[in-house]
Amino acid sequence: MSCVGAHRFMDFASRAARNEEFVREVNRRIEEGAQLHGVGSAMPFHCECAQHFCLEKIDLDAQIYEPILSERYRFLVVPDHVVASVERIVETHETFVVVEKVGEARDQIDRDHPQTRHRAAEGAPDE
Ligand SMILES: [Zn+2]
Repeated sequence: MSCVGAHRFMDFASRAARNEEFVREVNRRIEEGAQLHGVGSAMPFHCECAQHFCLEKIDLDAQIYEPILSERYRFLVVPDHVVASVERIVETHETFVVVEKVGEARDQIDRDHPQTRHRAAEGAPDE
């Protein structure tokens, strides 16, 4: 567990979001492959934490990962890798936790994907 200075926080949050983006893409393909081939057993998904080049894997059924994948602010991480300054825990399991991005890290996701924002805003008139 390392501490990140407050002056570096914005930069850290920004880089963290992009790193997770990459890992998420890898996991998305694992999940798609599992669905395609009807794999019913656990698959080794990558930890989607904010650490660069984290190599931890989490064995998980694709059906369990799928709803996490569909929530753009939610990520799958091993319990030790939660970064409290950029995310909060929404689900705790034995081998993994589901975190939801908050603050700057969440804004970064919106900036990287401005087009998907409106799709989720259906039913919420806010022009
Ligand atoms: Zn990790």
